[in-house]
Amino acid sequence: MTPKIRAGVLGATGRIGQQFIDLLANHPLFELSTVAASSSSAGKSYANACHWMISDDIPEIAVDLVVQECTPGLECDLVFSALPADQADTVEIDFANAGYPVFTNASSHRMRKDVPLLIPEVNPDHLSVLSIRNCSNEKKGYIVANPNCSAAVLVTALAPLHEAFRIKSVIVHTMQAISGAGYPGISALDLLDNVIPFVPNEEEKMALETKKMLGSFLDGQFHEAEIRFSAHCNRVSTRDGHLETVSVGFHRSPTEQEILEVWQDWRPLPQCLNLPTAPEFPIRVRSERDRPQTLLDRNAGNGMTVTVGRLRPCEVLDFKFVALGHNAIRGAAGGSVLNAELAHAKGFLGLS
Ligand code: NAP
Repeated sequence: MTPKIRAGVLGATGRIGQQFIDLLANHPLFELSTVAASSSSAGKSYANACHWMISDDIPEIAVDLVVQECTPGLECDLVFSALPADQADTVEIDFANAGYPVFTNASSHRMRKDVPLLIPEVNPDHLSVLSIRNCSNEKKGYIVANPNCSAAVLVTALAPLHEAFRIKSVIVHTMQAISGAGYPGISALDLLDNVIPFVPNEEEKMALETKKMLGSFLDGQFHEAEIRFSAHCNRVSTRDGHLETVSVGFHRSPTEQEILEVWQDWRPLPQCLNLPTAPEFPIRVRSERDRPQTLLDRNAGNGMTVTVGRLRPCEVLDFKFVALGHNAIRGAAGGSVLNAELAHAKGFLGLS
């Protein structure tokens, strides 16, 4: 039997770090071998350092691991990073320079010209930039980023439409869950009985990242998609799951039926390769007049499926619809694990 690839998690005690621990606990390719966090957690057992909040029990494999400092030298073959951007800025470069493949959730390096910003169903070809390594070292370190959680949901819903009909313009309003702000995140007194019409830097990130992911990778360079884009980002009092209302204009305006067929028939690379974390359907279309709903649909496809519904003509652009996805799974840890699975399938982990 081929030995599993040893995986470390940076920022392992936080909201997304915990999601990584959960996803890696029984993974067929990767084995959780080390956890790391801030110096206030380092030296403690994972169970003591972490305020576990995503399921009944901490997976057995993590309970007694001793939390390490986030410095290279960890006992693993790759790292998943759930660090805050301020720390990721330098720490992820240190790890890549030390030879580790780094699969990150942080925003720090997403827009670099040598970093693929990846949703494996959407732009698997962008991984080719790794052939031109993004960190100069003799070993094989690099950084692969996944997008901001709101962009992950939106771009998954838009990608097959862009491929079929070329998108001209997008207006999106987000209703983003509390967990998107990490733990402990926003105070209950600020958020209960309330909607906050501001998520720092989110609207700018959504615009830039959407254009990078829907753009092309040609002649060793990323070329952003030419799409007019406007986002309104709101924090609402739901626990997990980002709901987004979207209006979209096309260069070639399709019929409603054509859009539904494109979504339903979409079978991109991760599904063809049967990657372990790829859901059977990356997009699920709901036909009920009041779906998707955050509470009912966020766990579709183990949190990796984006659910769309309420497709109808738009009075301003061509069509409008609702999209929903799990911010901590498709929009973060699950997306990163799928990125690593694709890198493995394409031979970029050097172990396939
Ligand atoms: P979080 O709950 O605040 O967790 C932060 C983690 O980073 C903790 O493990 C913390 O360790 C560690 N950390 C903090 N300061 C550190 C330092 N100076 N050195 C080393 N480790 C340090 O945040 P999160 O929500 O999991 O987010 C993690 C990253 O994912 C962020 O970049 C975020 O933007 C991104 N992201 C989050 C979501 C989401 O839905 N939450 C979605 C997409 C992307 P201690 O416990 O020891 O303090």
